[in-house]
Amino acid sequence: MYVINTCSVTEIADKKCRQFIKKAIKQNPNAFVVVTGCYAQLKPLTIAEMEGVDLVLGSNEKFKIADYLGDLQKKAAGEVHAGKIMTNKEFFPSYSMGDRTRTFLKVQDGCDYFCSYCTIPLARGKSRNADIKTTVALAEKAASEGAREIILTGVNIGDFGKSTNENFFQLIQQLDAVDGVERFRISSIEPNLLTDEIIEFVAASKKFMPHFHIPLQSGSNKVLALMKRKYNRELFAHRVEKIKSLLPHAFIGVDVIVGVRGETSVHFNEALEFIQSWIYRNCMFLLIQNVPTQRL
Ligand code: SF4
Repeated sequence: MYVINTCSVTEIADKKCRQFIKKAIKQNPNAFVVVTGCYAQLKPLTIAEMEGVDLVLGSNEKFKIADYLGDLQKKAAGEVHAGKIMTNKEFFPSYSMGDRTRTFLKVQDGCDYFCSYCTIPLARGKSRNADIKTTVALAEKAASEGAREIILTGVNIGDFGKSTNENFFQLIQQLDAVDGVERFRISSIEPNLLTDEIIEFVAASKKFMPHFHIPLQSGSNKVLALMKRKYNRELFAHRVEKIKSLLPHAFIGVDVIVGVRGETSVHFNEALEFIQSWIYRNCMFLLIQNVPTQRL
């Protein structure tokens, strides 16, 4: 049996998923093939029509996979179970375990932002999370099973707490006290949600690593508005300045997208000038993507 968990963050991701599904079926034509994940949620029929695919499960159904497997006999046509993700309120917290001492703890799912280039909210639904008590208990369980470093992950982790009337700052304060975990790392966090108090807390914490991944996406305010991002470049510069003032050796990773519809050479040069003056001087890692965007 194959269980193929797909991504749909760009058109290239979709293409790679199709290629991988075909490769798996070619390698083992008698295998029972389950395709799930974001691409399966967004384009279930496209996948179900692929010869050899038996089961297509949406983003929520993925967590109940055993309920859909049946007798594992190959089907004449792909069977689809992909419910309405936008009204889904369920959240399935989880963490990775293997032969590593580093664990990924999922603290949040979904996103309410609807940036113009992004399909993720349509694939993962509204922002939701388990409460802090449950999340901390999960971190303690991971620690008892050998996790020494925990990476906090989610779709929009800074938005943690929206569904439980809590917030991300409260979460990291509680996690900091978990016995057995030596290091925490915050994964990608939106610049408007990486507040000064979070930066100050990380700077004072012995457990939270001086490691920030902050998606800039563009250094032009006009393009940020086209993208429907919730900050301007001045706010971004302030965040970087704040980190550098408290943690001069912090790692700062930054994503940039170029080629968004409506972006002119003037905007591009504005963004380039901002990146050259701000990012090159202060950040350790810059990922530039020319994204054939999905939703625009
Ligand atoms: S915040 Fe991130 S996940 Fe949410 S819509 Fe924007 S790019 Fe997509």
